Amino acid sequence: ARGLADLPPVESDSLLQLIALCNADPRQEKIDVGVGVFRDGVGRTPILPVIKDAERILLETQETKSYLGSAGDKRFAELIRPILLGDHADDNKIAGVQTPGGCGALRLGFELIATVNPQARVHVGTPTWPNHPPIIRAVGLQIVEYPYYDRENSAVLFDSMMGALENARAGDVVLLHGCCHNPTGADLSPDEWAAVASVCAERKLLPLVDIAYQGFGRGLEEDAAGVRLMLRSCSEVIVAQSCDKNFSVYRDRVGSLFLKTGSEETTARAMGHVFQRAREMWSMPPDHGAAAVRLVLDTPELRDRWPGELAAMRDRINAVRKRIASVDPRLAYIGNQFGMFSMLPLSREKVLALREKHAIYMADSGRFNVVGLGDDQIDRFTAAVVEALD
Ligand code: PMP
Repeated sequence: ARGLADLPPVESDSLLQLIALCNADPRQEKIDVGVGVFRDGVGRTPILPVIKDAERILLETQETKSYLGSAGDKRFAELIRPILLGDHADDNKIAGVQTPGGCGALRLGFELIATVNPQARVHVGTPTWPNHPPIIRAVGLQIVEYPYYDRENSAVLFDSMMGALENARAGDVVLLHGCCHNPTGADLSPDEWAAVASVCAERKLLPLVDIAYQGFGRGLEEDAAGVRLMLRSCSEVIVAQSCDKNFSVYRDRVGSLFLKTGSEETTARAMGHVFQRAREMWSMPPDHGAAAVRLVLDTPELRDRWPGELAAMRDRINAVRKRIASVDPRLAYIGNQFGMFSMLPLSREKVLALREKHAIYMADSGRFNVVGLGDDQIDRFTAAVVEALD
């Protein structure tokens, strides 16, 4: 008989390893660009003032912590709806539900796909966020990779991507990053989104758009353009949304899953399965963060302030990008990318040398978080990177 002692060790996550290495480095001047959260100019990830105010209201007015049911905070999902869906918010073929962060939304979306079509293959761009493949494999779906980004030339491999999607089978899923692509920072242009939407519609592929950084790129509306284009073009669409970055509530786990199907009746039936899967996994999503976000969006004074607090984060991201881009023509591409992450075309050896020689901690892939840099670290970082590129 096998016992728990027979479990093999799990290969530890390389980003978690990187955090541990960085924490253990005693050098004062160390630079952590491996981290996956927003940081301000002095290295903090502050709680947004609107969230603090919402939490104060919550503390004073919340009268019960009794169960809410597997849909969680329904008003939260209602309030996210127009922000995410824009003109599609009134489409009664679209339904949404609160989830434990973007991860929970992804898992739930893939659970639904595995429930209806276990033969579906999921087309995933390379590189992608390292948590995508394990979540897809966990529900038993097969992954097919499509080329997405050429790190050496800092370019989206759009023709190769389209060529790969031409081989997708009806019912297959196409995983797309809504904006601020992680780990590359390279988003599809509006024309490219339109072409992908056409292929999905023609070949009856199911787009699943992961949007974890709405408002971190160009703006709340602009960053949702891809999601809305897919909704306009395709009869079935799944959107996994996260508020963890744009409300800065990471550990509180706030997100939502939205579904569009061909009819209101089908959507209602699909949501029945969504609630069933949610009950099996987490019964109901955690309340606190979603309640705080709901209060921000439902309190006119806070609702008016949130876009400004979000813009301050976005402006820092884009200002750091511009500053890095201005240093060397080989870094210019960083100024044309969006979100917190970009990739440097450095070999693993060069990445390790930056770690040893300059105490600069980035992922082995060359992915780095532009706002991992404090204001006083940007020059030293770019100088070391330029030296490594030579
Ligand atoms: N998708 C992508 C591309 C991400 O980068 C992240 C967070 N790093 C998520 C989804 C999930 O975010 P969370 O579960 O923290 O809301």
